[in-house]
Amino acid sequence: QVRVRFAPSPTGNLHVGGARTALFNYLFARSNGGKFVLRIEDTDLERSTKESEEAVLRDLSWLGLDWDEGPGVDGDYGPYRQSERNSLYKQYAEKLLESGYVYRCFCSSEELEKMKEIAKLKQLPPVYSGKWASATNEEVQVELEKGTPYTYRFRVPKEGSLKINDLIRGQVSWNLDTLGDFVIMRSNGQPVYNFCVTVDDATMAISHVIRAEEHLPNTLRQALIYKALGFPMPSFAHVSLILAPDRSKLSKRHGATSVGQFREMGYLPQAMVNYLALLGWGDGTENEFFTLEQLVEKFSIGRVNKSGAIFDNTKLRWMNGQHLRALPSEELKKRIGEQWKSSGILTESEGSFVEDAVELLKDGIDLVPDADKALSDLLAYPLHTTLTSPEAKPLLEDNLSEFSASFIAAYDNGELLAALEEGHAGWKNWVKSFGKSLKRKGKSLFMPLRVLLTGKFHGPDMGVSVLLLHKAGKYGVVTPQTG
Ligand code: GLU
Repeated sequence: QVRVRFAPSPTGNLHVGGARTALFNYLFARSNGGKFVLRIEDTDLERSTKESEEAVLRDLSWLGLDWDEGPGVDGDYGPYRQSERNSLYKQYAEKLLESGYVYRCFCSSEELEKMKEIAKLKQLPPVYSGKWASATNEEVQVELEKGTPYTYRFRVPKEGSLKINDLIRGQVSWNLDTLGDFVIMRSNGQPVYNFCVTVDDATMAISHVIRAEEHLPNTLRQALIYKALGFPMPSFAHVSLILAPDRSKLSKRHGATSVGQFREMGYLPQAMVNYLALLGWGDGTENEFFTLEQLVEKFSIGRVNKSGAIFDNTKLRWMNGQHLRALPSEELKKRIGEQWKSSGILTESEGSFVEDAVELLKDGIDLVPDADKALSDLLAYPLHTTLTSPEAKPLLEDNLSEFSASFIAAYDNGELLAALEEGHAGWKNWVKSFGKSLKRKGKSLFMPLRVLLTGKFHGPDMGVSVLLLHKAGKYGVVTPQTG
């Protein structure tokens, strides 16, 4: 059975890189009818916090990546926090000691320092000399009786190599001669990270380890421990880094990098999930729009790219627009209406004004909070102040004085407002006869009219905008604008 895990260390927020690793694990599990396990790697007690664990769980849930086993979801392989699995690590460390894969090393830290210096002088790699690897039982007994502290060291074969077949990177191999015997348990009884991960993956029956590329070097030690424990080795898939547009590693200086920050900025979880999936994966077609269900259907680990993926904020924003406009129309109106109300632009979050305004402006809104600017820009230009605006001025000078004089007249005598009262048809008729009276049509009519009415040369549909402005003024749904 396919069993995969996402194993965050709760030492900070869920980064987009971690979220993508979680997503690929989730998709792999779901598309293979397997299980998605969540394991909290809190062995670093100083840096791990409960708040960070909660934040990671909340962000994963927000993304819709629900786990089958893990914190809050019981399973047969718990507990799912490393801090609660200490006895298991001890038990397996003892087992390896008994079988001879591990030995006690009584070297003091001063001694180890000295070994390193000597290796350096001899221009050898700074690996453990193997001093206690072949100690006799008597020698060990003497130290135990003296109470000398000791670590558990793993006996690494002195020659040969180890190969794995990474599902993304292909064959990866390491020479064993430069590794040296490494510690799996410290003298205070604390197991080291690589040992915990291996014991956990083995005892949780993980079939595929899908994780970030930065863990590739750890795989060598973990694979050796796997073999020694006598568990079948899982398959490995190391996913490439996420890079900033300048191809450096994505970090805080590039802006938002945590899932929580994007949520607070107003991004939709479905857009985040879609965008994260495209960081290194594609279904082989031009299609880029996928729901989580569609991703489950299409995902294959074989299509994950081994080169780094660039995190592009502009594309993420665009993607959010796609998902926003794909929402059922009622929900889109509700979200945007609530945004306008909560930011104080409108006094009501629903009604025909909101409906018309969303319809008019939605194509220019990629992120719900953008809706504020879209509507304010429109409303910042009430009909009656048009003629003094800096935008209208060049038109007045450009031999359009007759045009604007006629416009003012039509405004002042109430003709334009009366036409607007009749809605779209009224507006259309008015424009037509206004054009006729000036012998203008097409661009030479619409361009100056747009500037006079909206203060801009471009924008959403002019008729709808003007009708909306008229409605806004008439029904008083708009709070007074300053300036
Ligand atoms: N706890 C590790 C991390 O947060 C993941 C280790 C692994 O997936 O093997 O980077």
